[in-house]
Amino acid sequence: MGKRLPFIAGNWKMNLTAAEVKTLLSALAPEVEKISTVEVAVFPPAPYLLTAVAAVGNSPIQVGAQNMCWEEAGAFTGEISSAMLLDIGCNQVLVGHSERRHIFQENDEIINRKLRHGLEASLTVVLCLGETLEEREREQTNQVVMTQLRAGLKQVGVEDLSRILIAYEPVWAIGTGKTATPAQAQDVHESIRGWLAEDYGRETAESIRILYGGSVKPQNAAELLSQPDIDGALVGGASLKADSFLAIIRSGA
Ligand code: PEP
Repeated sequence: MGKRLPFIAGNWKMNLTAAEVKTLLSALAPEVEKISTVEVAVFPPAPYLLTAVAAVGNSPIQVGAQNMCWEEAGAFTGEISSAMLLDIGCNQVLVGHSERRHIFQENDEIINRKLRHGLEASLTVVLCLGETLEEREREQTNQVVMTQLRAGLKQVGVEDLSRILIAYEPVWAIGTGKTATPAQAQDVHESIRGWLAEDYGRETAESIRILYGGSVKPQNAAELLSQPDIDGALVGGASLKADSFLAIIRSGA
């Protein structure tokens, strides 16, 4: 089995100012430059994407958007297109984050349209999946995550899978301080890889990176990242400070 390059991503959500984005990235960039064994990306709020692209400069930190429209251009007030993201130097986009699903009512069909559009535009797409606490307590975790995975990847061919990352983020662990135990997370990650193998073949499934997200902190990152099917982390709160985000990045190195 080929070793997958760990991927650590920071989702800054609706936080920070332009000045804070510059300060944070100027602290991260020289440190990340010294680490070649982890891929690092940040997802700043839309108004700061250009600021972030300028601030990372030639460092290997990649910049992506938290959201994007499924259409190329036109009458979509308030939306951002893939062409705009590429135009300013972004190469990634998050799709299906639980806050988009639950607060902004994005359903699997919308998420699939965004994902396919992102792929057509040659962006790397991080597809987020995860069950609510109620669904976990009803023992529906596998059913919910499998449905989200298959609906999100509908009509996506094996040739495009190399530009997809999956982020398993149990909703009950996001921003709550409650982390899935490494065993709980590994269990779901292994299932996700199994479903990918059924649909795309074992070799492709083994090459796809599956990130864990949900209250990842410097204190729990190493144990989570040591699980065989956890290939990185999507970090919210702890990615807003250089020292905590760097500690998590180093745990993956
Ligand atoms: C997230 O926003 O994707 C996330 C996992 O947030 P946090 O790390 O704050 O739980």
